[in-house]
Order: sequence, then structure tokens, then C-alpha cells
Amino acid sequence: MSPSDEPILTATGLHKTYRASRSLGSRARVSAVDGVDLTLAAGETLGVVGESGCGKSTLARLLVGLERPDRGEVRFAGRGLGRARGAEARALRRRVQMVFQDPLTSLNPRLPVLDLVAEPLDVHRLARGAARRDRVAELLELVGLAPEMMNRYPHEFSGGQRQRIGIARALATEPSVIVCDEPVSALDVSVQAQVVNLLAGLQRELGIALVFIAHDLAVVRHVSHRVAVMYLGRLAEVGDVSTVYDAPAHPYTRALLSAVPIRHPRERDPDREVLGGDPPSPVTPPAGCRFHTRCPLAREVCGAETPVLRELGDGRVAACHFAETALSRA
Ligand code: ADP
Ligand code: MG
Repeated sequence: MSPSDEPILTATGLHKTYRASRSLGSRARVSAVDGVDLTLAAGETLGVVGESGCGKSTLARLLVGLERPDRGEVRFAGRGLGRARGAEARALRRRVQMVFQDPLTSLNPRLPVLDLVAEPLDVHRLARGAARRDRVAELLELVGLAPEMMNRYPHEFSGGQRQRIGIARALATEPSVIVCDEPVSALDVSVQAQVVNLLAGLQRELGIALVFIAHDLAVVRHVSHRVAVMYLGRLAEVGDVSTVYDAPAHPYTRALLSAVPIRHPRERDPDREVLGGDPPSPVTPPAGCRFHTRCPLAREVCGAETPVLRELGDGRVAACHFAETALSRA
């Protein structure tokens, strides 16, 4: 592997549990992320999909260092995020930024856009005075907003514009990685595409690596090079978008994809497998493969042995005892 092929971000064996609500007893824990391994290459977009509650936001917070894993680690350019201290920790944090789902709750309503976008510059002492203003003007232009808007307040903007402000903020420290946690889910459908295209354009122009979390599978396919499919805190499958979308190897991926609404009713697939019911509780996840309780291919081994992510020879990994069977049915 040449140095340029080295991943910019590597997650190894990430585990994160939370205390469950009190009604479930004080010792109950939610298994939010359970043994996730991931790599992100410089300049690539990795999509992350999975049903609500499967651990996507927890993974996002672990990847940017907003939360610490119980076990495992995140490395940026070969350096551990958790172990770094002082100046090194600040330098690392500057390189990995996050865009949140809801631009309204993540922006302080009492601050003008100038101060909101400049906050990361202030935190990392990157610019002051006129240079700070100039940098904010430049960042606003980069996200398609007029620099004069820097004197206005969040409530004066539309949802789409507020998300652009959130993106400008994330770009302020010239990050190499931006983790976008459902960046358009809270926006009107009519402006979602604009914000998605802005992110994709910035990714290409600036060569930033993106982790793009979304529940819209079509959007993920549109913007991502690779996709990671999550189920109940674990990865089900990871591979190039065309490989995974055209021939899913994990029955969960297959079910997710077939649950995508079809635009033309005549194309409806009569064999369409729709996911039955809700995922099991992450407080008491099923033993073995966590998907076995809903899986059409499940056999006895699936409830007994946890399948590990294994290579399937096409650059893709899947965690299913019967991935070959699933592939042959695709
Ligand atoms: P997603 O983003 O895929 O919807 P999350 O990462 O938000 O999933 O949540 C994964 C699981 O962890 C869920 O069961 C959720 O209720 C739980 N969880 C997330 N954050 C916390 C927290 N701070 N305290 C307790 N439980 C949490
Ligand atoms: Mg989430």
C-alpha cells in the first residue's frame, strides 16, 4: 500500500453503550455501536444507511471525537483521536468536522452568521479582525450565500440556507473529513437536492472525504463511492455503491433496497421482500446475527454464531453466513 492509499480515517472495533431509560432498570444498557470497523480514504464519500435507531448518529459522534468509544479507536492520518492531548488533540479535531441534521438546533439563535461561521476559527485561533471577516465572506460564497448575509441572524434564513451556514462552519477549519449526519432529512424535499449537490460539489472541488449518513438510499447512491449498511449497531455490508446496490450480499441490504418506494408502479417487483415489523430492541439484541429474527434466509446457525464481515472477492465485505446464497438470488 503506497502512503497515499493509507486511509485518512480508520475506525477499529468501535463499541458504544448507553444507559437505557430508568424504567428498564438501572443496569440495562443500549448497545448502540457494537464492533464497527471502517476505513475512509482521502477524498472519498462513504454513505452510511440503516433504519432509525441502528447507531448511525452514535457512529458519527465517535468518528469526529464528540464521544469516546467504550472500546476500540478512531485514527486520523494514523494518529489516535482518543489518545492525543493538548495541541495535538486540537489539531486533530480541526481536521474532522461534523454537519448536523437539524441546522436550527445546532446554531445559536443569538449570534449573527459572522460569529456562527467564525466560531471554529475563534476556537482554534485561526483568524482575527479583518482576516476573520474575509474568511467568513469566502466561506459563505463557497456555500452559495452572499457575504453580506454575515450580519443577519439564523431566524432570517430558510432551512436550506441555515444548513448552508452549518456547512460553512464545518469548512472553516479546512477539514480533511466531514461527517454529515442526515444533513438534509430536516429540509423541505424541494431544497434537499440543492444541499446534497452542494456537498457533493465541495467534496469534489476541495477533495474532502465525506461520511454521508442518510436514510434516503437513492441519495446515498447518488453521492457516495462506497456504502456501509448498518443494522442494530453492526455493519451488515460495506462495498462500492454499484456492487452493493446492484447485487446486495446481505439479506438486510436486500430488504432495505426492496423497501425503497418505486417511482413507476408498473416496475413493481412481485418478489419484493418488505421488512416485517420493527428492529429488535438494542437493549436486548438477538444473539448471533442480530438480523436473524427478521431474515428470510435464517437457519439455526444464525441465532448461535455471530457472522463476521468477510470479503466476497469483489471488494465488498458482508457479515452473513449465507451471503453467497443471498447473492445468487439477487
Ligand atoms: P440512528 O442515528 O441510526 O437513529 P442512534 O445512534 O441515534 O441511531 O441511536 C442508536 C441507539 O442508541 C438507539 O437505541 C438510541 O435510543 C440509543 N441512544 C443514542 N444516544 C443515546 C444517549 N445519549 N443515551 C441513551 N441512549 C442513546
Ligand atoms: Mg441519527
